[in-house]
Amino acid sequence: MAAAALRRRLTWQRAEVLAVRRETPRAYRLTLAPPDWPGHVPGQHLDVRLTASDGYTAQRSYSIASAPQRAELEIVVERVDDGEVSPYLTDVLRSGDLLELRGPIGGYFVWPDGSDDAVQLIAGGSGVAPFLAMLAHHRAAASPVPVRLLYSARTAGDIIGREDLEHPPPGVTVQVTLTRGTPEGWTGLTGRIDAAVLAAHTVPAAQRPHVLVCGPTSFVETVARDLVALGHDSGQIKTERFGATGGQ
Ligand SMILES: Cc1cc2nc3c(=O)[nH]c(=O)nc-3n(C[C@H](O)[C@H](O)[C@H](O)COP(=O)(O)OP(=O)(O)OC[C@H]3O[C@@H](n4cnc5c(N)ncnc54)[C@H](O)[C@@H]3O)c2cc1C
Repeated sequence: MAAAALRRRLTWQRAEVLAVRRETPRAYRLTLAPPDWPGHVPGQHLDVRLTASDGYTAQRSYSIASAPQRAELEIVVERVDDGEVSPYLTDVLRSGDLLELRGPIGGYFVWPDGSDDAVQLIAGGSGVAPFLAMLAHHRAAASPVPVRLLYSARTAGDIIGREDLEHPPPGVTVQVTLTRGTPEGWTGLTGRIDAAVLAAHTVPAAQRPHVLVCGPTSFVETVARDLVALGHDSGQIKTERFGATGGQ
């Protein structure tokens, strides 16, 4: 990347907050309008920086959840109760506020453009955020690439992006597994994602899919280990760890 383009991505800017929408009891979708955004690739993230009145700053990363085809950006922030940054974003920030951010960042954990091979997405909790961008991009681009998403959420109420996931674009299959109780009439999967669930509900290793895994650190590490045991080439598996251990 040219130095000027890199500098632009790493320069902090103040984005107007267009909307803060409650997505689940713990996750909020923020719609942002940065004044100078060079565009992004699905899977990239941005950094948010908060500055206190005494000059103390804290910065965190959030995956971009919206398609590159859209003018505004969306991120989905899950509230970490004792967190420094996420409770501000979910509880204090209001539409019309300004939020300091920079990006897009990351070139590794991204949609495998230019390949016709199947794509397997595996998410735990808010780890579904970059995949919402990928599915929205798939729809907007009318992509012929076959995609499967396997998504672990605690309860039905914790499913992020539920409306979109219930109506996936052609060629996309979505399966949700709930780990902490199911509502009446639930027809999806139940329980944690383990080797048996991966074997039954993901693109087989023999098809050499691109696999992207995102979520809490322990979730990602367990899933990646199980995928390798199922015969997936570790070079085909890309992971993004959101931190902590989570509880999907
Ligand atoms: C590349 C990247 C993309 C990310 N994208 C998203 C995203 O789209 N949505 C999103 O909600 N988060 C995302 N995260 C996580 C996010 O950056 C923060 O770590 C998270 O919001 C917690 O920040 P905090 O300041 O509130 O908590 P902190 O003050 O950093 O942590 C407080 C406590 O919570 C624990 N903790 C930290 N992170 C998590 C977590 N993710 N889950 C549970 N416990 C945690 C810490 O260990 C600590 O005990 C991403 C992280 C990375 C590295």
